[in-house]
Order: sequence, then C-alpha cells, then structure tokens
Amino acid sequence: MPQRQETLMEPKMNNGNGHGHGCAIVNGCTSDEVIEWFEQVSQKGGSVQKEILSQILKQNHGAEYVKKWLGYHNIQEMDSSALESLFTSVVPISSHADFEPFIQRIADGDTNPLLTQQPITTLSLSSGTTEGRQKFVPFTRHSAQTTLQIFTLAAAYRSRVYPIREGGKILEFIYSSNTFKTKGGLTVGTATTHYYASEEFKIKQEQTKSFTCSPAEVISGGDYKQSTYCHLLLGLFFSDQVEFITSAFVYSIIQAFRSFQELWCEICNDIRSGSLSSRIKLPKMRKAVLEIIGPNPILASKLENICKELELVDWFGLIPKLWPNAKYVYSIMTGSMLPYVTKLRHYANGLPLVSADYGSTESWIGVNVDPSLPPEKVTFTVVPTFSYFEFIPLYRHNKQEDYRSIVADDFIEDKPIPLSQVKAGQEYEIVLTTFTGLYRCRLGDVVEVAGFHNGIPKLNFVCRRKLILTVNIDKNTEKDLQLVVERGSQLLNRAKKAELVDFTSYAHVSNEPGHYVIFWEIDGYAEDSLLEACCTEMDASFADHGYVVSRKTKSIGPLELCIVERGTFKKILDNFIANGAALSQFKTPRCTSNHGMLNILRACALKKFRSTAYNT
Ligand code: AMP
Repeated sequence: MPQRQETLMEPKMNNGNGHGHGCAIVNGCTSDEVIEWFEQVSQKGGSVQKEILSQILKQNHGAEYVKKWLGYHNIQEMDSSALESLFTSVVPISSHADFEPFIQRIADGDTNPLLTQQPITTLSLSSGTTEGRQKFVPFTRHSAQTTLQIFTLAAAYRSRVYPIREGGKILEFIYSSNTFKTKGGLTVGTATTHYYASEEFKIKQEQTKSFTCSPAEVISGGDYKQSTYCHLLLGLFFSDQVEFITSAFVYSIIQAFRSFQELWCEICNDIRSGSLSSRIKLPKMRKAVLEIIGPNPILASKLENICKELELVDWFGLIPKLWPNAKYVYSIMTGSMLPYVTKLRHYANGLPLVSADYGSTESWIGVNVDPSLPPEKVTFTVVPTFSYFEFIPLYRHNKQEDYRSIVADDFIEDKPIPLSQVKAGQEYEIVLTTFTGLYRCRLGDVVEVAGFHNGIPKLNFVCRRKLILTVNIDKNTEKDLQLVVERGSQLLNRAKKAELVDFTSYAHVSNEPGHYVIFWEIDGYAEDSLLEACCTEMDASFADHGYVVSRKTKSIGPLELCIVERGTFKKILDNFIANGAALSQFKTPRCTSNHGMLNILRACALKKFRSTAYNT
C-alpha cells in the first residue's frame, strides 16, 4: 500500500460561532494546508487573541456573568484592543468555585443566559483525580469542534514525520464514562465521553480514513476491564492493519498491557475459535464484538508463539512484535504521565513515542508541533484560536527572607499578562476565558515558556499548582516529587530486580515533627537494605530550601518509604472509577490527603523504611 500524507477533510476550522475569523481552514484541506493555516495564525498570535476575546464577549454580552462586569459598557461598538483593556481591568481573576453557583443553576434547569448566550445542554466532569473532587464544566458543540481541530492539527504535524497508510486501523485504548442527567435534564459525562459520542469523532475517522479497532459499544461500555479486554482482542484480531496505538493519557496503555500479560492466553483462545470470554458480560458489547471477529486459528497460533517468547523477556518489545506495522505510540506522556514512559519504552523497543497535546476539560491549549521529540523534551505551542489565554507570572520562594515566616502559598504571583507578552524561561499559571462561559478562570497548571513558534509561546508543562507536599515552610510540587522519586527508583533499576509500578505521597502532620510519606508499589523483589537506600536517596534529593533547612533543624522528620502490595494502585483506580472517574482521564494523584485513597494505601502497606539522610 502506498504511504500518504493524511488527507484531512474536517469541517471548517472556525472560532466556535461558525463564522470563522479570517484565518480559517476550509473543508477538505490537506495536512499541508492545515499546517499552513497554523503557521499563519501563529504569526499574529496577539491580534488573533484580541479578536477571539472580542468574539467571546460579543457573543455572550447578554449572559448574566458578563453583564455583571461589563453591563455598563457598550462592548458591541468597541474595537478588540479597547475591549481587551477594559476586560482585563474590570473582570476579576477567578477560579472554578466562582462559576459553580452559575453552573449549578444551569444544571438545575435555569434556562436564562447565565454564562453564555446559547443554552448549555451538556456538562463535562473533570477527572477530579488531582483535586480529589470532580468539577462540572460547560460543554458545547464548540468543545467537540476544538477537539477535532487539535487532533487534525496534531495529525498533520505527525504525518510529516510518520506518514500512515490510508484505510489503516488505530488501536485506541479509550473509555467513555457513564453519563447521567441533572435535575434540569442536562447530560453529564467526561469531556472525552462527549467527544467519543459526538459527530466530530465519526467525522475524524471517516475523513482521515483511519478507523478505531473497537466499535462504540466497547468504548462506551462503562466497565473499563471488559472494554480493555475487547480493545486488546480487536487490536490483535486486526494486528497487521494497526498503524498506531493511542490513548488519551499513557496510563491507559500501560494498564492495558499489564492486563494483557495476564490475559493473553484467553485472548488467543477467543481469536482461535471466534468466541468471546465469559468475562465479557455486557450484552451490547458481546454482540458488537462477536459481529466483528471470526475464527482465525493461524493468527491465534502465531500470536501465542510470540507471547510465549515475550514472556521470557519480560514482555520487552511487546508492541512491535504484536503490531508489526505500527509506526508509533501516541498519547499524553508529559507531566504526571512521565513516570510511565520507562515502562512504555520497554514495551515499545525503539518504536517512536509521540507525546500528545495539552488541554483540559475547560479548553484545549497547545499542540505538539515537533512529534519527533522524546516525551522529556516535548513542548506545546498554544493554539490562539481556542480560548483567550492569560498568564500569571510565578516566582518560587527561594530567597532566604521568604522563609522568615511561614509562606502561605506555593508561589509568589505577579499581575496576569496576555499571550503576546510572555517571556522565555518564566513560569506561569494559565488563566482561561473560553467560548463555553468561563471568564479569567485559573486553570491551576504551572507551565514554563520554553521558546516560541513564530512568536507563539511553546509551553513546557511543569505541574499542577496546588498539589504540594508541605509540612511547615517547605513546598514541594508534583514535579519536585517526581524528580525525587526518579532518583530513588534509579537505585532500584540499577539493581535490575524490581521496577517501580506507581507511587504517591502524603504529608504526615498528625505527629510532631511532621514528615513526608512516599508510597511505592514495586514489581519484583528488592532487599530491605536497597529499599532503605532508596528512601535515604529520595530524602536527600529534595532540593527545596525550606525542606532542606527543616530537615537539618529536625523540624521535619525523616522521610518514610512505605512499600504497598502488588495491585494497590489498581485498587485506587477502581475506587476512583467507582466514584465516577473515567479511565481515559485518570491520573494517579501524586500527593494526596484523600481519605479513601489513604485507607487503601494503609491497608495494603507491607514494609516501612525511614531515611537516614541528615542523621549527623
Ligand atoms: P482533566 O480536565 O481533569 O481531565 O485534566 C486536565 C489536566 O490534565 C490539565 O489541567 C493538566 O494538569 C493535565 N494535562 C492535560 N494535558 C497534559 C499534557 N499534555 N501534559 C501534562 N499534563 C496534561
């Protein structure tokens, strides 16, 4: 089959109100044209942003929230620069909590224009795995359209480096959550759930001529274990046709392949006989899968032989062995997903890992325009047509005087600035004004400007902002913890007997002095002396000045490493899913005070070690 540059026949890229803004992509354009569009838009990011803000405000000027702040101004007549100045001087910086009363009224059936002029009929649930609580976020047709747009754009850049075969299949580990109706009749589910159910998801498949292996009944089954089994079964049934393997966050791929190590015999039996394991109980899912598969004893024997060989090498190179035509693995691998990349590399044996784009339930933010970069180096170029973005400069508390008193916040903040004024090397918190009714809303993510693409910032994702370990004057972010755990687990890797499966942490402050507890689930055997060394290494690796000072003065106790039994983090996942989270958006919280999660961790504790760093 000839290779091709993907032909993109997506609908017109517009600004959300269907009118476009002069830099739109037209129907049926090729990947080169899509890239051309983005190259043009990114050269005038500042003016595009002003125009986007103007469109959001003019579209929604009648909504209660907009009237509250801008009601006395004739915004319809204002030019975009004047409107931007007015907006940023009058409308306050807010957080999700400020929108909750409005969203609650919408959920309860209030049909007055509260946040947007157009009625909101659907709400998305954020994953809630980082803040312990799922948030409702308005979802509109625009949300699904921007998802299609960013996928189109990312696919265009990917196809330049890794062209794929037309008519091929994609093995997608994607999962819809269950949806429900609010008192006012609005549909609620995760943003990915709405997207998989949308017209845009179908358009994407039909027009890029790349089809997911699994039918809708598998994606939306509502039971992630049954869905994973069927994704794997169908992925293998079509193994020669699979062009790439993907998921929203890479965690889903890792959990699927870990399950595969247990399930492969059963899956091969199903392929041999064209039957379906009794573990698939959902009638619609059974019917849909059985309609696709048929007996294929030759393929089953071939796969069985490969799996037997793979078992001997601890499943090294599983992906290229089982999917010989796969060109790459594509998924979010940055941020809290980075720790899973080691395992993914083990499965991928050199197959390119393409880190996917940056977004949130609130809005898509940036696209990966350099697909050949490894996940550790990936940046996200802001797409200035998606939302109006502002950036709050953040500074770390690393000056001695900051520690004279206990500092209340994780960073020192400066005034928010527009996209056109950000500086390379500076860290910021992102603030969003969206087409879906959020105005100057803090996202809670810390990013660093790594450089520029035609004047548009390229962002490094640093961490979630509020996820910090703190006992007194110390402040360690999710990223700090990740680096420390990486240092500790390197000792484990060097010993080559065990690997880190997953981790989290907790600030233990109920006893004096307080101390950090890091929980590790490991696969394999490690001697106590090695684990103690890992614990000490991690304690000594925290670079935060407040932590180092407190450890030296013994106002923070020695770090505790708690080893939990195998399967603990699966139980945590199950617990989150039972409480309404969706696998597609699940991120293991790296620092927790969630009682349910701590109860599981404590009940599964096997061994505890205390660091000997700072003993002298
Ligand atoms: P949610 O909307 O709850 O599913 O999660 C959105 C959050 O996931 C963002 O605010 C980020 O913290 C994180 N996230 C999304 N995309 C990326 C990415 N490419 N790299 C790192 N973290 C990401």
